[in-house]
Amino acid sequence: MNSLSATDTTSVSPSTVDSSATVADPAAIDTSAALDLALPTADDANDIAPGLVTLRRALHENVEVGLDLPITQKLVLEAIEGLDVEVSTGENLSSIVVVLRGGARKTDSTGVVPAVLLRGDMDGLPVTEATGFDFAATSGRMHACGHDLHTAGLVGALKLLHRDRETLPGDVVFMFQPGEEGFDGAGKMIDEGVLDAAGPRVKAAFGIHVSADADLGVVSSRPGPYMAAFSKMTITVNGKGTHASRPATGKDPIQVGAMLVGQLQEYVSRRFDIFDPLVVTVGQFNGGTAPNVIPDVAQLVVSVRSFSDEATTRAEAELPQLVTELVAAHGLEADVDYERVLPPTINNDGEADFFLETFADLFGADRAVERANPIPGSEDFSRVLERVPGAYGHFGAALPNLPVDEREANHSPRARHSDDGLADQALFLAHLAGRKLAQLAQN
Ligand SMILES: [Zn+2]
Ligand SMILES: [Zn+2]
Repeated sequence: MNSLSATDTTSVSPSTVDSSATVADPAAIDTSAALDLALPTADDANDIAPGLVTLRRALHENVEVGLDLPITQKLVLEAIEGLDVEVSTGENLSSIVVVLRGGARKTDSTGVVPAVLLRGDMDGLPVTEATGFDFAATSGRMHACGHDLHTAGLVGALKLLHRDRETLPGDVVFMFQPGEEGFDGAGKMIDEGVLDAAGPRVKAAFGIHVSADADLGVVSSRPGPYMAAFSKMTITVNGKGTHASRPATGKDPIQVGAMLVGQLQEYVSRRFDIFDPLVVTVGQFNGGTAPNVIPDVAQLVVSVRSFSDEATTRAEAELPQLVTELVAAHGLEADVDYERVLPPTINNDGEADFFLETFADLFGADRAVERANPIPGSEDFSRVLERVPGAYGHFGAALPNLPVDEREANHSPRARHSDDGLADQALFLAHLAGRKLAQLAQN
């Protein structure tokens, strides 16, 4: 296993953040106060990397889906056994919340001991794996989204920070989350109190997502809107079935449904600002049983992606009305069910800068990319960032030396994520938490 090494030629050793440290953003860490914060080095991370790879592969092979991940939970609990931390598990899902108490805790400007949250999601997908890995799952489930790496990386960050815990000026909450893939595990963990697990609400939150088709070890993020909100609209067009040869004796819901497919795009292109866009896709269109029958009913299920609260709210108010009235104009009736599934993932501007600067400081500016545009996928870490300032970003995990045209994206049965970046993932997360606590404790 080859760990990527942290660059240490142009920047300071990440081992200590003290008055001699030069970071990419001098404001990122106030070096004037007398904090004696020790943070892990690349060597520390490389020391634990083999154990993280073993854990990642065990998680991969034993992948589970949804909110109940008993084997995954057990593997994580075993991996962190013996650490001097507070561990609790979820009531309604197999989550794990770990609180690491700093040994140099001090109150911040708001009079509380600051806490910072790091998150890793743990669930897989109902995909039959075709990676050819010797640790591939054979259960019809797969870590096709790379959450096995998120879990192992978070365990790594915990181990690294635990080693230096006596110098931490605050607490770190580790959020091991089931059910990211459509189960709102983040929302459920928030309901069970993860944001307040340390006592006072966490002051900042960070997470990363691996990408199977992005260059290994390159991180990307951006301030502001980062990932889309997801809403789901289910349209039932109620017509009147009849013989296919005599449509005038019925009301054809397929014809009217097909009209809606086109009209939805007219709505998007004429009514929304291209700089605060909406993406509407009819992902399911079901109706009919035979070529010579006009059915009673057709159903369309539509996904709506948006990047701001304003666009999300407008679409929710306008789309059901548009659909209902268009269908009525043709003499049929529509039932529309509209559901907000996830809010947009919005990075705090300052925290997104801190996120990229911390990575650049550790591993070199050439490996930290500020994205020009948000990503149109959705993510339930949005629920955390709705409540707490923080940042989310992506971490390239393509197999080293794999040509770009042979890489497959997350969720593909052939998505192959490298674990060569695990040491860096763990080191990065550990520094995000440690350096943020240092900032908070000095303000
Ligand atoms: Zn996914
Ligand atoms: Zn994912």
